[in-house]
Amino acid sequence: MASVLLQSVAKAYGETQILHGIDLEIRDGEFMVFVGPSGCGKSTLLRSIAGLEDITGGELRIGGRLVNDVPPAERGIAMVFQSYALYPHMNLYDNMAFGLQLAKVPKAEIDTAVRHAARILHIEHLLERKPKDLSGGQRQRVAIGRAIVRKPEVFLFDEPLSNLDAALRVRMRYEFAKLHEELKTTMVYVTHDQVEAMTLADRIVVLQAGRIEQVGTPLELYEHP
Ligand code: ADP
Ligand code: ADP
Repeated sequence: MASVLLQSVAKAYGETQILHGIDLEIRDGEFMVFVGPSGCGKSTLLRSIAGLEDITGGELRIGGRLVNDVPPAERGIAMVFQSYALYPHMNLYDNMAFGLQLAKVPKAEIDTAVRHAARILHIEHLLERKPKDLSGGQRQRVAIGRAIVRKPEVFLFDEPLSNLDAALRVRMRYEFAKLHEELKTTMVYVTHDQVEAMTLADRIVVLQAGRIEQVGTPLELYEHP
């Protein structure tokens, strides 16, 4: 587990300022959800934490260490995207194992990690299948499994449920809550869906035009909207 500390974090694309001095501490093991309308900067903020964007102002620390001082592979961050981008020719086992194989992790260790992730996500019986033979929810689980096997300290999710139908979204919400309970890692989750935010979050950050408008528990925000 690791905390994420943002101090006056700013991001501009050319002349256009997207994030304006974001101050925020995401605590060890916390499930933090960013909500806000399309274009308010949620993804940019998440991608900055992931190190996929260079911030143009302020400081960003993960586990107390400045992100820029730590090579990407050692940051302990895993991000799950909205488009799952699974390898179509590989079965689920290999989809989840591939990153570890590239990193030359011993086979037995990979096997333990893949099976553990598959068990948590209830896809143990599907390991021989190819992505095309899965439902949307199952594919989403494989994408999450691929992140779990890397044992990240911080998990980042960018609208992970927005490609699923309504019924599946509700079920997967529950799965995310269970996943957090099980892994107890720090999770940062972006959505434009307020119900999703209210259901999942320990705390919610409401973003508006690149600024933090509110931070609080679901109850606090419900009572003081
Ligand atoms: P959200 O995730 O809240 O929908 P984004 O973080 O994706 O918002 O985008 C915030 C703003 O930054 C938008 O106005 C978007 O057009 C702009 N933006 C995002 N990525 C880029 C980019 N690579 N170059 C220029 N502008 C960008
Ligand atoms: P070996 O080195 O003996 O071939 P592995 O370490 O590759 O064994 O595999 C260990 C376990 O993981 C075995 O039970 C095997 O069936 C399973 N396994 C390995 N690769 C895959 C795969 N691509 N799909 C499904 N199961 C796999």
